[in-house]
Amino acid sequence: MKRSILWVFILMSLCVAGITVFQLYYSYKSYAVESAAFERNINEALNQAVDSTFKDRHNQVLKKLRGWLNDPEFITISCKWNEVQHLTVFNIKQVVPSADGQNDISMSIDYFTERADSLTPKARKIFIDHMIDYVGTELKKGFVWYYTQKLGDSINKAAFSEPQDINQIRRRYKQTLHTRGIDLPFLFDRNKLPENSITTKKVNIAVGRPQKEEWLQATFIDTNAFLMKQMRRLLAGSVGLFVILLLCFWYTAKTLLSQHKLNKMKDDFISNMTHEIHTPLSSILVTAEALKKFRHDEEAQQSYIDIILHQGQKLSALTEEILAGAKMEKAGMPLGDIIEVNAFIKNIIDNGHYKNIEYSGSGQSVSLKVNALHLANAVANLIDNAIKYNTADEPLVTIACTVSNKEVVISVTDNGPGIPDSEKERIFGQFYRIPSGNVHNIKGYGLGLSYVRKVVAAHKGVISVKDNVSSGSIFTIKLPL
Ligand code: ADP
Repeated sequence: MKRSILWVFILMSLCVAGITVFQLYYSYKSYAVESAAFERNINEALNQAVDSTFKDRHNQVLKKLRGWLNDPEFITISCKWNEVQHLTVFNIKQVVPSADGQNDISMSIDYFTERADSLTPKARKIFIDHMIDYVGTELKKGFVWYYTQKLGDSINKAAFSEPQDINQIRRRYKQTLHTRGIDLPFLFDRNKLPENSITTKKVNIAVGRPQKEEWLQATFIDTNAFLMKQMRRLLAGSVGLFVILLLCFWYTAKTLLSQHKLNKMKDDFISNMTHEIHTPLSSILVTAEALKKFRHDEEAQQSYIDIILHQGQKLSALTEEILAGAKMEKAGMPLGDIIEVNAFIKNIIDNGHYKNIEYSGSGQSVSLKVNALHLANAVANLIDNAIKYNTADEPLVTIACTVSNKEVVISVTDNGPGIPDSEKERIFGQFYRIPSGNVHNIKGYGLGLSYVRKVVAAHKGVISVKDNVSSGSIFTIKLPL
C-alpha cells in the first residue's frame, strides 16, 4: 500500500477514535447533568409536597379559629377608645372563665387608627382578620401564643396534637413528582435501603417545626434506567452520528483501496499488453525485413508470409477481445436469436477444434432466446480457459447441459490446477489475473471472465465457480428459461 494512503488511513482512524472518545465523554457529562437535575427535582418536589401538607393543616386550624372567634358562646370581642394612648383597644374574653390561666386579653392593631368606642361590624372583621394573620404566622414558627387559656388550648390541640399524615405526604409527593415528569417508585423507609439508590436531603415533618424535629427522606431505587430514558434522544443521536461516521469511513476506505487496486491492475495490464503486442510486432517486422532484403525460394517466402499472417491474426484477435467488451457496453446486447442449446454447444465445440473434450447433453431439446454471438464467445472463453490453464498430464474438459423447469445449466469442468477460494470472486473482475507464477507463461489480459459475467448478466443469468472433486474447477452458467 502506498505510504500516502497508509497515512490517510492512520489519520482517519485517529479521527474516528478521537470523535468516539469525545462522544463518550460528552454522553458521560450529559449523564452527570441529567443526574444532578434529577436530584434537584426530587429534593424540590419533596419540600414542595411537605410544605403544601403543612399549609393545608394550618388553613384548617385557622378556619377553626375563625369559627371560635365568631362563636359568642366561646369568645366575646369588645373595644373602646383609650384617651391616653389615642388608639382603639380590643379585648377578647372567654365566656366560660378558666380556674387558672388567662381569661381575657386586650390589644391594639397598628394599622387600625380609627376611633371605635364600641365594636362595629367593620372593626370586628378587621380584628378577626388580624388575629387569623397573626396566628397563621405563629403556626409557621411552630408555636402559638395563649391569648386566653381556652383559645390557646384549642389552637394548640388543633395544630400540634396529631402528627403529620405520612400517607398524605406520600400522595402529594407522587403528584408533585408527576408534574415534574418523574413517575418512579420511592421509599420513605430508611431501614431497608437497596444499593444504587438515590436519597433526598432530610425534610422536617414535625408538627411543631422548626421548634421540633422529625426527619423524612425519600429514596429512589435503580434510577439508571430512568436517566437513560431521559437521555434516549441524545443517545440515539450520538449512536446515529457514530454509525454515519463509520459508514463514511468504511466507504472512503473502500474507495481508496479499490482506486489503489485499480491503479495496480492498470499497470499490470499495460505491462502485460506491451509484452503481448511487442512480440508479434517484432516478429512481423523482422520477417518483413527478411523478405525485403534477401531473395528466397517460393516455399521460404510462403512460410515467411504465413508467420506475418499468423502474428497479424494474433494482434487482430487481441484488439478484438479488448474491443468486444467496450462494444458490448456501448451497444448493449439484444437477445434476438432463438437457439437449441445442445446444438448450440456442439457447434461451439466443433468450431473450436478442441481436443479431449466430452459433452454430455440435456437429453431433451431446449430452446432459448439469446444473443448467439456473445453467448458463444462466453462459452468458448470458459472452454479456452479450461484448456489453457490445465497442467494435468491427461487434460480432460467436460461440458454438460442440464435443464430444469426454471433454468438451463451449462457447466464447464476441468481437471486443471483449480482456483483458490480467496480468488473465486476476484477472477470475474476486469483485468484480474491470479498473480501466482509468471503471468506471461499463459497468455491473457484478465478480460475473459469479466466479459463472460457481463454476457451472462445480460441474459439475466448467473455464473459461479466451484472446485472439481478430484482437482480442477467447475464453471457453471445458469440461464433462466
Ligand atoms: P485471462 O485472459 O488471464 O485468462 P480471465 O478473466 O479469463 O483472464 O481469467 C482470470 C484468471 O482466472 C486467470 O488469470 C486464471 O488465473 C484464472 N482462471 C480462469 N479460468 C481458469 C481455470 N479453468 N483453471 C484455473 N484458473 C483459471
